[in-house]
Formats: sequence, C-alpha cells, structure tokens
Amino acid sequence: MANYFKQAKPRSKVVIFDANDDIQSKKGLFTKAWQDHYAGMIDYRPKHKVVDVDAATNTLKFEFNDDFKASVANVVPEMRAGDIAVKTGLATANARWCEVDFLTFESKAFKHIHVLGDAIQIAPAMPKSGHMANQHGKTCAAAVVNLLTGHQPPALPLYANTCYSFINSREVVHVASVHRYDADRKTMVAVPGSGGVSAAASELEGAYALGWAQNIWADVLG
Ligand SMILES: Cc1cc2nc3c(=O)[nH]c(=O)nc-3n(C[C@H](O)[C@H](O)[C@H](O)COP(=O)(O)OP(=O)(O)OC[C@H]3O[C@@H](n4cnc5c(N)ncnc54)[C@H](O)[C@@H]3O)c2cc1C
Repeated sequence: MANYFKQAKPRSKVVIFDANDDIQSKKGLFTKAWQDHYAGMIDYRPKHKVVDVDAATNTLKFEFNDDFKASVANVVPEMRAGDIAVKTGLATANARWCEVDFLTFESKAFKHIHVLGDAIQIAPAMPKSGHMANQHGKTCAAAVVNLLTGHQPPALPLYANTCYSFINSREVVHVASVHRYDADRKTMVAVPGSGGVSAAASELEGAYALGWAQNIWADVLG
C-alpha cells in the first residue's frame, strides 16, 4: 500500500495497529524498509488491540487506546481455526487451533480426521504459511496412503519454510527455516543453524520471490 501511495497519493499515511507488543517477523528488515522508502508515511503502533469497528463511520475501537477514524481500514480479526473446527471440537488448543500428530496430521481429538495448514496448533518456532501448508499436505497424503495399506507413515518428516516480502515493486526480503520431526518429543523442532533472514533487501531476491511463487502455484494448482 505504501509503495502505491508513494507514487499515486504521497500525502497518505499507512497506520498499522498491532495487538502484539512488537513486530513479529523480519523486524529489522521491515523497520529499515519503512525508514529508507516510506519515511513519515508508515506509522507502526504496537499494543493496539482492535475490539470493534464502527463501519458507518470507519472508526476503529481499541481495548485501551483512543478511537481512530480511517479513510480505508483493513481489519484482520483475531486468528483461529474456522468455525467448523471449533464447533466440532477439533480445535482443542484454547478452542482456537487443532492439535495433530505431526507424523500423520491426524487430529489428536478424533481418529481418521486429518487437519492441515493454518488450522493446526503449531510446534514452537514452526511458522504458518502457504509454503508449510503445502508440505503438511504432502506429509499427510503419504501418511494416509501408508495407513490405508497397513504400513507405518514416514518416520522423519522435514519441512522448509520460506516467506518473501516485497518492500517495493522490485526489492524483496525473506525469512527461511527448516523443521524436522523429533521422535522422542513427538513434535517438530527447528533444525539448529538452518535458515535465517536476508542481510538486506535486493532485486535478486525479487527474482527469487517470483520464482518461488511460480513453483508453488505449479505444485499446488497443477
Ligand atoms: C497477508 C498475508 C500474506 C501472506 N504471505 C504469505 C507468503 O508470502 N508465503 C506463504 O507461504 N504464506 C503466506 N501467507 C500465509 C498463507 O496465506 C496461509 O498460511 C495459507 O493460506 C494457509 O492455507 P490453508 O489452506 O491452511 O488455509 P486458508 O488458505 O485460510 O484456506 C482455508 C479455506 O477454507 C475455507 N473454509 C472455511 N470454513 C469452511 C467450511 N465450513 N466449508 C468450506 N470451506 C471452508 C475458507 O474460506 C478458506 O478458503 C500469508 C497470509 C496473509 C494473511
């Protein structure tokens, strides 16, 4: 949005209200991009939990802070698994996320029901992303085939995650990590020393990001 405003409506402001205490991912890279490319345009405000929206007046209401009237508001509700998961009792973690066996993605609450993607309760440091959900799908499909044919599911699933962010129309930053199954703890753990974040935004990473997109679309959508 800021990239568009910079060119088309340079007096605009992008105000980001975050219920978190601080930026949760790629903090250094984002704050540098905001300073270098959008100084005075992006206003990040942590500890601002939106509790209501008056759509008639475009006014955001917060738990503790003063109301804010926006020209355009993009409100992201508090995240949780879909209603169907909550209403059926699949969302066993605080009635928000579905706990699963990471070898099969079978629900811990109900046998023969497998849950993938953003709806699951993740292991520590395990991100939620389309990239990860794609690999959940493959692990789950392989496990279901094994279970249906009387075999054990593959014992050591390993996932990589990459998340690219465009900071303008060409320059990109990424964060990456690798996660493997720990059979003793029966959970996924981050592989020590794996992954990391970009040293700086670059056009080369912009090309990588578009390559990533083409690949995952081809893989998921055929
Ligand atoms: C702004 C933003 C940027 C992102 N950028 C990236 C990125 O760069 N790279 C990346 O890898 N990931 C990214 N992600 C994360 C990625 O979009 C999610 O992790 C991914 O979409 C999760 O896939 P999913 O299939 O689990 O859930 P979803 O994509 O949310 O799909 C769930 C679907 O189920 C449907 N549904 C719900 N209830 C029912 C019902 N009862 N009956 C039928 N359908 C139902 C929903 O409508 C929805 O279409 C981003 C997310 C956001 C919000």
